[in-house]
Amino acid sequence: MPKRGFVYLVGAGPGRPDLITLRGAELVKTADCIICDKLANPALLKDARPDAEIVNVPKRIGPGSFTQEQVNQVLLQKALEGKTVVRLKGGDPCIFGRCTEEAVLLNEAGVGFEIVPGITAAIAGAEYAGIMLTDRRYSSQVAFITGREAEGKQDTNIDWDVLARFPGTLVFYMGIGRLPVIVEQLLTNGRPPETPVALVANATLPNQRIVKAPLSRIVETCEREKIEPPALIIIGAAAEGDDSLNWFMRRPLFGKAIVSTRDTAGNAEFAQRIVDRGGTPVEFPTIAIKPMTDGNAFVQALAQLTDYDWVIFTSPNGVRVFFDTMTALGKDARVFAANRLATLGSKTAATLAGYGIKADFVPTVFTGRELGAQLIAQANLHAKRVLLLRSELATNDLVEVLQQGGADVKDVPLYTAVPQTGDVAALRNQMEQGKIDWLTFASPSAVRNFFEQILPEQVNASNAKVASIGPVTSAQLEQLGVHVDLTAGEHTTDGLLDAIEQAEST
Ligand code: SAH
Repeated sequence: MPKRGFVYLVGAGPGRPDLITLRGAELVKTADCIICDKLANPALLKDARPDAEIVNVPKRIGPGSFTQEQVNQVLLQKALEGKTVVRLKGGDPCIFGRCTEEAVLLNEAGVGFEIVPGITAAIAGAEYAGIMLTDRRYSSQVAFITGREAEGKQDTNIDWDVLARFPGTLVFYMGIGRLPVIVEQLLTNGRPPETPVALVANATLPNQRIVKAPLSRIVETCEREKIEPPALIIIGAAAEGDDSLNWFMRRPLFGKAIVSTRDTAGNAEFAQRIVDRGGTPVEFPTIAIKPMTDGNAFVQALAQLTDYDWVIFTSPNGVRVFFDTMTALGKDARVFAANRLATLGSKTAATLAGYGIKADFVPTVFTGRELGAQLIAQANLHAKRVLLLRSELATNDLVEVLQQGGADVKDVPLYTAVPQTGDVAALRNQMEQGKIDWLTFASPSAVRNFFEQILPEQVNASNAKVASIGPVTSAQLEQLGVHVDLTAGEHTTDGLLDAIEQAEST
């Protein structure tokens, strides 16, 4: 008999990808096949195995949409092929998630399954809006209700009379299209017109929106505000909330679109930091990291590595390029057995630590000049051999300082940055519509490549502000005629975001 698969019915959480459970995330990493709802955040799939089969099953009206029966068929087929299947559903898999049909089907086919709960939209949406669903002063009970039921009047399980009198909080899922019906039913069944209502759309995501109005006016307010699904309707005293508890949308970067202009990996990392601070990242790659480890300079340096007293890395990219090359050559961290290592910046040190190496010297400085000065103050570098492994484009400052300290310096390029193009039309469009709040630049080469694609005048004419990581980058911007609104005091990406936060809150 062929091996039967196994199905995990997994809650993906309400929107923000890191609100999935640990169990869910672990299963996504190992699944053979992931069958994905529209409401499950696609970012969750980046941790899937590269060879995992991904089946998207959006349940909308129109072409490309799936009926529940079609979803059931896919699910069963993949399981019967012997696969470990993750059925990823938005929020919690069983709250208005048609879990019963899928579970019964699997049971009947003799396929084992496990249900992995998730944070349902009502709970996360209320909490990300500062609305306390069970505030003991006025809500000792909560009801979750589907708005879809309101469609057909016959056969309904919804008792409007009971809901109108319900002494607690009502939360409607899938109710946006049916809002007028819901409101009318509650009003005609006696719910007071002044009852507070809150709509929370795109809960937990950077584009979260909240609209509040009394029951009698919520329909016109939502029309005016053009609220679109997915959204929750929260009705009852709890919905009034206390705006000072709306912690998520009160973050300084909330609703701010911030463009990052680094390489793809750098942009992805920076995007996460922007999201952590409540902002909306826009990734626009300007450079790609191109390893130079097949060049003579590097090959020679590697062959003579044991001759060097110190090896210095000045960026996480450098560390990654170095170890990618070692892996390709079948070598590992033991190549550094004879050397002492220094890094510029704690992130470079952390990246190195990821490869099992604790740097000997990690000064808390941000420029090559400062690193060199501190290294000289700390260790006697006279006649010591120092190997710099870094970008071809780095300035000569560090070399000069080390040489002044008596060191015998070899500067070997590990990588260079080559221009990369972003989605110029989309960014221009967004800038013209005033949808971009900040453009950020973390290196002079990113500045040059960005302004090869977009004219300085376009940026100056838009309401997008320009933020730079440090003086060298700012100088490059100014040289091109770009107005620089701020230069970070601490020359790191966090320092850059700190400065933007400060500018936004004053
Ligand atoms: N199983 C899901 C609900 C599926 S029904 C859960 O537990 O959350 C789909 C409805 O959920 C949407 O119509 C909307 O009302 C709500 N919903 C899901 N994600 C949401 C989000 N990020 N913001 C607001 N509402 C959301």
